[in-house]
Amino acid sequence: MSTLNTAPERPPAQNDEGTLIDTSKMNAGQRAALELTEAARDAAAEKSSFGSDLFMGRFDPSKILPFPEQRAEDRDQGDAFLQRLEKFLREKVDADAIDRTGEIPDDVIKGLAEMGTFGIKINGQYGGLGLSQTNYSRAAMLLGSYDANLTALISAHQSIGVPQPLIMFGNEEQKKKYLPRVAKGEISAFALTEHDVGSDPATMKTSAEPTADGQYFILNGEKLWCTNLIKAGILVVMAKTPPKVVNGKSRNQITAFIVDVNTPGVEITHRCRFMGLKALYNGVVRFNNVKVPRENILHAEGKGLKVALSTLNTGRLTLPAACVGLGKRCLEIVKKWANDRVQWGAPIGKHAAIADKIAKIAANTFATESMALFTSSIVDRDKKADIRIEAAMAKLWGTEAAWRAIDETMQIRGGRGYETADSLRARGDAPIPVERMMRDCRINMIFEGSSEIMRLFLAREALDPHLKVSGAVLNSQLPMGKRAAAAMKAGLFYATWYPRQWLPSFGGLPSGLNGKLKAHLKYVARNSRRLARRLFHAMIKFGPKLEREQVLLGRFVDIGTELFAMAATCSRAHSLMRGASPAKSAEFLSLADYFCASTRLRIETLFHGLTHNADAKGYRLAQTVLKEEMPVLSDGIVKLQ
Ligand SMILES: Cc1cc2nc3c(=O)[nH]c(=O)nc-3n(C[C@H](O)[C@H](O)[C@H](O)COP(=O)(O)OP(=O)(O)OC[C@H]3O[C@@H](n4cnc5c(N)ncnc54)[C@H](O)[C@@H]3O)c2cc1C
Repeated sequence: MSTLNTAPERPPAQNDEGTLIDTSKMNAGQRAALELTEAARDAAAEKSSFGSDLFMGRFDPSKILPFPEQRAEDRDQGDAFLQRLEKFLREKVDADAIDRTGEIPDDVIKGLAEMGTFGIKINGQYGGLGLSQTNYSRAAMLLGSYDANLTALISAHQSIGVPQPLIMFGNEEQKKKYLPRVAKGEISAFALTEHDVGSDPATMKTSAEPTADGQYFILNGEKLWCTNLIKAGILVVMAKTPPKVVNGKSRNQITAFIVDVNTPGVEITHRCRFMGLKALYNGVVRFNNVKVPRENILHAEGKGLKVALSTLNTGRLTLPAACVGLGKRCLEIVKKWANDRVQWGAPIGKHAAIADKIAKIAANTFATESMALFTSSIVDRDKKADIRIEAAMAKLWGTEAAWRAIDETMQIRGGRGYETADSLRARGDAPIPVERMMRDCRINMIFEGSSEIMRLFLAREALDPHLKVSGAVLNSQLPMGKRAAAAMKAGLFYATWYPRQWLPSFGGLPSGLNGKLKAHLKYVARNSRRLARRLFHAMIKFGPKLEREQVLLGRFVDIGTELFAMAATCSRAHSLMRGASPAKSAEFLSLADYFCASTRLRIETLFHGLTHNADAKGYRLAQTVLKEEMPVLSDGIVKLQ
């Protein structure tokens, strides 16, 4: 019997609401933000996933091996659509012109709508294509390889706009009313962000007050950076509704409403323009006493943040998929250039410094694709599956890897990378749009959960099993009796859990696995336990203050994420190698082996950084920079403040 595979005891179920985290030392703003997001956390957290298990020292090979194959019928359905989409993109879409003009031609939007691109995941009974999450991710990949403006249009409409929350939370009447409209091509958008509400929705100002008869809500406020707004017919709007009393305390409520853009009082006040995504139809919208019927509430009153967070959990899977498309396009560019461009007597791809960059782009793209496909397949197997951790890891890792890929591609292309496609074309050079791709790519690490927020989210989830066991012990807001009882329970749990984290891993991996892949997967198993031990030690050392150690927690999250990337990559390589020719098999192996070898180096550096770092000094320095006048850092520049 394998110890890789043995189920460690799960921590006891969640304590009473509000007992997990001690909020007594927080200021009012921090407490409000925490209580609101805690209340909206997904209860699916009770079930563990491959990613969440890694933080508890559990590597369960049966959750990642064999790599989930797409069913032949599903693949064929996807292929038929993707072939049409690819032909359309090649023949009808000029991505440079869209970037130059900042507009997507109407016939492009019409053509995309006619082939069903606005309803890829919407069920056939509501007029959509009814394709799987995997096929949707493949479409995002295709779009991401060609035009980021179109990717954003389709993604903001379908991953976070009306379709996704409606599919997840809408009632039958709402689905019948709105899904056929959005499937046909009526564009939708998602309005959460405000001037003072970025990553922290607790400070939301847009409000919806019920009318005296309770049949309507009157919406007032302003939303910022709403993608697709300028072309949208329908919006999902998050607004504050009257507070509710929970456990004797008043708790802020956020509710999600479906709002028709042509409702009186909806006013688009500004179109925003950005560094990249020049044709994004993004803007500011004001709601002036907009009357919204109660039946337009999605899910239920007060469940808006849950709608938003759940929508984003699946929605953010689009970004790593699109980043795979970008990575593959980068490889196409550097492959040609590094073979053709001769400097210092050799093609630049033969110079080790350039070859190193190419290997990284290749391996990281393969890894991102493995994570995105693996996570998409979980959704296809079970629509209610908990993919929060894997989707966040894929988003965090994939968008950062894509940024490095485009950065390396620009370096490899040299001066031509920095020159615009139009300028290259005008002087007779190949119009390769690396600078456009770079401008378009940067936002991926900011929207749909910035990298910092993804790390905080993953850290919260990594600590969750421990908070369930010992949160009450450390919570000074609870009576002593309750804390003592919790301490007993926690003692029992850790008395068996902790020694297990020192046990060696023996196997549990399938036969026929290549020796190198096996060694890498054993490393994942071993280091998942090491990660769990070190996280536990950090909890003992810092207690409730661990929550403030963001950089340290970020290292734990990054280790877990790298382990997930390694496992998904090895599993996929194993699956691709089966039945492949020896030459092809060697190629798959070299991708996975190089990826894992580099990841292991990163993981070792991250472990080292847990105890050897300059975090405290850095934090103090940053606070000094923020507060003090430091002429050495401000002299000699044009002063603007
Ligand atoms: C092109 C574009 C399209 C967008 N589309 C939409 C859309 O369709 N709908 C919508 O609702 N919104 C949209 N947004 C908003 C986007 O989701 C936000 O920009 C994002 O949530 C970050 O919010 P913010 O910019 O206000 O940053 P802030 O929340 O002010 O954060 C600033 C910085 O601080 C970091 N930070 C914040 N809090 C913490 C913390 N507790 N710990 C550590 N670091 C922290 C952030 O990661 C970031 O680096 C869009 C934005 C852009 C630029």
